Amino acid sequence: MDFKQVTVAGSGVLGSQIAFQTAFHEYQVSVYDINDQALEKAKERLAGLQKVYADYFKDEAKAKAAFQRLTFSSNLGEAVKDADLIIEAIPEVVDIKTSFYKQLALLAPEKTIFVTNSSTMVPSQFAEFTGRPEKFLALHFANEVWKNNTAEIMGHPGTDRNIEQEIIDFAASIGMVPLHIKKEQPGYILNSLLVPFLDAAEMLWINDIADPETIDKTWMIATGAPMGPFAILDVVGIQTAYNIALGKAQADASPDNKFRKMADILKAEFLDKGKTGQGSGEGFYKYPNPAYADANFLKA
Ligand code: NAD
Repeated sequence: MDFKQVTVAGSGVLGSQIAFQTAFHEYQVSVYDINDQALEKAKERLAGLQKVYADYFKDEAKAKAAFQRLTFSSNLGEAVKDADLIIEAIPEVVDIKTSFYKQLALLAPEKTIFVTNSSTMVPSQFAEFTGRPEKFLALHFANEVWKNNTAEIMGHPGTDRNIEQEIIDFAASIGMVPLHIKKEQPGYILNSLLVPFLDAAEMLWINDIADPETIDKTWMIATGAPMGPFAILDVVGIQTAYNIALGKAQADASPDNKFRKMADILKAEFLDKGKTGQGSGEGFYKYPNPAYADANFLKA
């Protein structure tokens, strides 16, 4: 299918980036959010992204033209009436997504394909509410889509494989590297690798086996990676690391609840002190010049 009109639902951190990336590759994009206040914020975010794209791709005219391909609406029926594809990037809350898909099933044209950008949920959780399970799958982007341009594509058992291929082609057409996941997997590829890796690093630290800089140094020297796990945690954000640890702590009934200890330490030593990672200027490292980026870090 030749997609012409794409609707992005939810214009927060990721939704606005996905909308801009899609418009930058010459699709008409309708941006939907719940009310006019949210849309005003979206316009500010997207104007900010116009500058980011103009700088990053050194093409002001192309970035400006992309912004002009965006339309905004808080009326779902209006926002989806001509959509070939709807990319859902609304909050990571099961009830919000469920009621969104129930509404959307009634309003979207029959031809419309739905994809979810959910990071932690799988498409089979929502397929039955979409009214078109065969045309529903996940298309998962990473933050800062213009440079971290992975697109993980993952269907559920009822997804039509031809539709999956169309989404792979669409992702490539908007400048992403399509990464096909053959079976449903919570966490896709990236988080299936990253979350256990970061957990292992945090466990070495909270069990006082080694300090974060030593752990990062080990990883960086031994593998040639530009960053170690604690530098990555600063980018992800310590609030997110805390939320993940807390979720695991709550699911663990054993007396030796290792994730409870991890969550408590992250809260007391970082969050309560306003050290939330790179965004706040301090996490495991101090920014803008973190120690791991120093030329001598790997030598000492
Ligand atoms: P966000 O909180 O920044 O944005 C959510 C947007 O959805 C807001 O603009 C909000 O007004 C809007 N919204 C709320 N309820 C809505 C509804 N019923 N209908 C339509 N819009 C509604 O969230 P985000 O970080 O952009 O995350 C959105 C989705 O993208 C989540 O599923 C998340 O897992 C996924 N994701 C996020 C990241 C990330 O780094 N932030 C990365 C990959 C995937």
